[in-house]
Amino acid sequence: MSLKVAIIGRPNVGKSTLFNRLVGKKLALVDDQPGVTRDRRYGKARLGDMSFDIIDTAGLEEAFDDSVEGMMRQQSEKAFEECDVALFLIDARAGLTPLDNHFADWLRKRHKPVYVIANKHEGKDQDPGLYEAYGLGLGDVAPISAEHGLGIELLYDLLEPHWKEWKDRERVAKQHAREAAAEAAGLEDDDSDDLIDEDGFADDEGEVFPSFEIEFDEDDEDEDGELIVEGSRDNSKIQLAIVGRPNAGKSTLLNQLLGENRVMTGPQAGLTRDSIAVDWSYEGRPIRLVDTAGMRRKKKIDDRVERLSVADTLRVIRYAQVVVLMLDATNTLDKQDLTIARMVLEEGRALIIAVNKWDAVRDKAEVMQALRDKLDTSFAQAKGIPVLAFSALTGRGTDSLMPTVLDLHDIWSRRIPTSQLNRWLEATTERHLPPVISGRRIRLRYMTQAKSRPPSFFINCSKAAELPESYTRYLINGLREDFDMPGVPIRIYLRSSD
Ligand code: GDP
Ligand code: GDP
Repeated sequence: MSLKVAIIGRPNVGKSTLFNRLVGKKLALVDDQPGVTRDRRYGKARLGDMSFDIIDTAGLEEAFDDSVEGMMRQQSEKAFEECDVALFLIDARAGLTPLDNHFADWLRKRHKPVYVIANKHEGKDQDPGLYEAYGLGLGDVAPISAEHGLGIELLYDLLEPHWKEWKDRERVAKQHAREAAAEAAGLEDDDSDDLIDEDGFADDEGEVFPSFEIEFDEDDEDEDGELIVEGSRDNSKIQLAIVGRPNAGKSTLLNQLLGENRVMTGPQAGLTRDSIAVDWSYEGRPIRLVDTAGMRRKKKIDDRVERLSVADTLRVIRYAQVVVLMLDATNTLDKQDLTIARMVLEEGRALIIAVNKWDAVRDKAEVMQALRDKLDTSFAQAKGIPVLAFSALTGRGTDSLMPTVLDLHDIWSRRIPTSQLNRWLEATTERHLPPVISGRRIRLRYMTQAKSRPPSFFINCSKAAELPESYTRYLINGLREDFDMPGVPIRIYLRSSD
């Protein structure tokens, strides 16, 4: 796969000549390969550091019926359908012909990037075609001479953004493949749990857990977006991690949450050797507390100095869906805390900030305000992160933790139907138009939810590479507001399918 560029234009403007120049003599005979369609030539083109596929529509004159429509249908439509970007050639010396104008009318109605190339321009500025071509309504005109190799750098400038965009798209596709693989690994993890779960675990009340459905199933890409989880709380197991600096109060919180009725499992197959997990349930909802430093210390009594390694924390975050970051209220939000919070969001997990030792704080309002300000400035990308304050020691305020976990997990898993998304996209882009880039307004055409956990969206967009960060942020904030998704990371992937 690579970027596909089509060369389009009436006969005799120099399409083959340009094709040969871009592909190089030796490779120009690709059309002789069996299986390659007769009416189009394909080649691998090189231009500077770029390489792309080039589709030539030349050499078909004989095959046409006489009508212009017939010609366009046969010669150009298929090539144009296939390409990411088209070069529309005219003959600068001969000037425009009615056929060129017909081509231009046709191209203007398509929504694909097209660049007008005035060929056979060998430095004579009075070439009539060059100026007439501006009247085609297809934007700027690049003068070149395919035969003499002049102006080829202009082609480079025109194609480079598309090439970069294409590479970005590839990168995103690969990233999705990796994420899918990671989810598949997570699914394997659950499978291995099922082995452990064979006899069932006793929960707090001494009841046996039913063997749960593997929740990753609903993550499967229902591209049509019909599956709506919103409002209907599923009963899948929530993987929860409690992280934070040493002495934040993680062990104390665990004891508060679980009492003495904990069931510790682990080492877990599929996780690292000394990973630990605790299975329990909250109001009937199965919860797996994944490896936390608090648990770890309980296991290794003599390990006095608890180190907080980034690698360890990252590993824990990756196995969790919801992460509670515990802060010590008497010593809030230092650099390490911010680093953990950032990792949680970058990994796409749902984050809750829990401020512990609230009993020891005197100016509660002041401390809370300072904390919220810091969070809002540090994590604009996940506005509305839930912040709880409690005392793990006395248990005061800890009641709100689990309901918050459940709510956030729901939001994190949310699916929004495609129809709603597209209505939203239309209204949102009208309210604040995307910018105009080299004379053309970027168009955001349609939108679909790529996956949940975290909510991730594809938007089909012209000139995706040119859409400013600030506009993407506007969209993300809008989604968060309008679909009520505070606190979770939201991702937008721009796609240019044309
Ligand atoms: P196609 O029918 O569009 O594929 O056009 P060709 O590539 O076959 O070119 C048609 C004619 O224009 C040939 O005689 C070429 O040599 C000539 N030609 C192509 N490019 C240039 C150019 O840059 N300058 C000049 N002067 N002639 C060119
Ligand atoms: P961990 O290292 O994060 O697991 O922290 P611990 O749970 O071991 O707690 C560290 C210290 O903070 C212990 O001395 C706890 O008694 C104390 N602590 C934990 N929670 C609270 C709280 O809510 N209030 C107060 N005042 N102290 C607490």
